[in-house]
Amino acid sequence: MSRHDPESAYNHFREHLPSLGQGSAQNAFISPDGLYPLELDGSSTTLGATEYLSNPSIRLLADFFHAKGLGRLKLEDQSEGWYQDWIDYQARHGLYARLLSPKEYSTRGTQFDLRNYTRFLEAFAYFSPAHAYSLHVSFLGLFPILISTNEPLKREAVAQLEAGGVFAFAVSEREHGSDLLAIEFALRSNGTAGLSAKGSKYYIGNANAAGLVSVLGKHVGPTDDKASRRSPFVFFALRPRDTSAFASVRKIRTLGIRTAFVGEFEVNDQPVPARDVLSQGREAWDAAFGTVDFGKFFLGFGSVGICERAFAEAFGHLRKRILYGKPVTDMPHIRHALAGAFARLLGMKLYACRAVDYLQAAGPSDRRYLLFNAVQKARVSTEAVKVMGLLTACIGAKGFEAGTFFETALREAPMIPVLEGSTHINFALTAQFIDQYFAEPGGGPPAPESVTLAAADPEENPYWMGTRDRHPKTVLFAESLAAYKLLAGIPNIQTFVRQVRAFRELFTGASSATHELAADVGLTIAVGKCFSAVVYAQLVAENASAAQVPPAVTSVVFHGLIEDLSIEAVRLATLFPHGSAHRSMLKRVIRVPRTTRADIETVFRSLEPRFAA
Ligand SMILES: Cc1cc2nc3c(=O)[nH]c(=O)nc-3n(C[C@H](O)[C@H](O)[C@H](O)COP(=O)(O)OP(=O)(O)OC[C@H]3O[C@@H](n4cnc5c(N)ncnc54)[C@H](O)[C@@H]3O)c2cc1C
Repeated sequence: MSRHDPESAYNHFREHLPSLGQGSAQNAFISPDGLYPLELDGSSTTLGATEYLSNPSIRLLADFFHAKGLGRLKLEDQSEGWYQDWIDYQARHGLYARLLSPKEYSTRGTQFDLRNYTRFLEAFAYFSPAHAYSLHVSFLGLFPILISTNEPLKREAVAQLEAGGVFAFAVSEREHGSDLLAIEFALRSNGTAGLSAKGSKYYIGNANAAGLVSVLGKHVGPTDDKASRRSPFVFFALRPRDTSAFASVRKIRTLGIRTAFVGEFEVNDQPVPARDVLSQGREAWDAAFGTVDFGKFFLGFGSVGICERAFAEAFGHLRKRILYGKPVTDMPHIRHALAGAFARLLGMKLYACRAVDYLQAAGPSDRRYLLFNAVQKARVSTEAVKVMGLLTACIGAKGFEAGTFFETALREAPMIPVLEGSTHINFALTAQFIDQYFAEPGGGPPAPESVTLAAADPEENPYWMGTRDRHPKTVLFAESLAAYKLLAGIPNIQTFVRQVRAFRELFTGASSATHELAADVGLTIAVGKCFSAVVYAQLVAENASAAQVPPAVTSVVFHGLIEDLSIEAVRLATLFPHGSAHRSMLKRVIRVPRTTRADIETVFRSLEPRFAA
């Protein structure tokens, strides 16, 4: 039995448990198979799928979508109707309340458990990304309330959640998109009576159904017509059901998530008492970004779930398709593309699950999650788009049939990077950490324990709900190349480490390129693209070591990363003048992977037992 067989991987892991820093709890722990891409429709017998489906919340989720069936789901998608049946179902079973209620306010003894939540989100997107959107947006709407100091509102929000309610996060405006300083939504001082709200919001999820909407507006004086760029921010909670002004809700028709409700609304002179204010000024600004840093990180798990199902469907179709008297999967380029798609998907999952470990470990002296969350937003969902590209090239016409999940995935996967805000902004954000990441000595804490592989459920971390320092220049990192120690025998790892060393030289010493970044957004984004590949690879390597991913499989995962870093290095080099030192340094980042045919075959052969349908 080979090591990538789930059962032997599990046994191997059990044998090596103490050396992986998981203590002595050898009888009750989670298998590393949960770190691999899974098939969750019940036909797969892998340990990972069994483990996911034995979670009561995921079981209930799977039951709902199995009872509905793909055919009905697709018809509902085409008619673009709202999924009230799902909202009622989750309310009846207390699903969103179980996932989102923080320990301090839950009346049901639940807590916010990162492992449960991220697994649920992955499975949710596997069954229906459109339905999952209602949960993502509920988190975003709830979070500004939970991190505020408004105790009565926190209790009201959790009571609504426990009654089955959903929430909305209203930041975007039609004319301003990412430019939050341009927000026009105004809260006018209303004498002693508090504030009066007037304005409109655009692209707001759950706008039709939310019991509470967290709205970001600006404070204006009694005689001001509208907010200016310098008006101070106010975050407040709006109760649409008690607001006659909240009348003009309109659904915005979108390419994907068609049964969800992404809408616009207007508020006209709605009184906002002081008790409904969540935060003001700098605190409101920080609350908006803190919510986005945290809440949009979770969208990456949706990208994983979408690709898992699309992969399973594509692979299932291709292995049964006979052309020229032979299965299509006998053709070498198809095997290569499918192995590549699987390896990219595995990389996405290894990264996202490792980023959870850093989020779990976050605290005042360990803020590495800020970078890893930013890289998750910048890369995981864009990797999903690449996975869909590889699969599309193989599946042929079948993938465009309206009755397939694949056709849904083709529309949903590219929406996630947009929904996350903007990949440009996320790449630029990533680049801000570059000096700290490459600093020697970094002085950061040791690598955190694995949440996925731990026996016990992770505890809620009070740091998440408090005021958090988001400053990138004070985050400390440990030596990142330590991640490759256990994988050092794999040629593609050796190549990638050489690339990282060459790239690092660009940002250390007297000729560092860092000072050039501030003046040029295009350059910052191009650097962010290279740097995010480096950071992504570190976490992939850490989890590949922890999960004992077979060397051949790790080799194919890193094949993609070597390609990515080389391509981004070429693009970055073109932004420096011909003959410049920086161009010459970047030429050393460009490398050719050393993957063998045998590596590809190993990955391909591991697919058959994993995707049974
Ligand atoms: C399906 C869907 C659901 C959504 N749900 C919500 C929701 O519930 N609540 C909510 O508030 N919003 C929501 N949004 C809005 C989403 O957050 C926006 O897409 C986001 O605010 C960016 O606006 P924009 O897409 O109009 O792009 P724009 O801001 O118009 O950007 C245009 C281009 O400029 C680039 N750009 C802009 N600023 C910068 C910068 N600083 N640096 C580098 N490049 C930059 C962008 O990358 C992009 O390429 C949703 C969006 C979608 C698609």
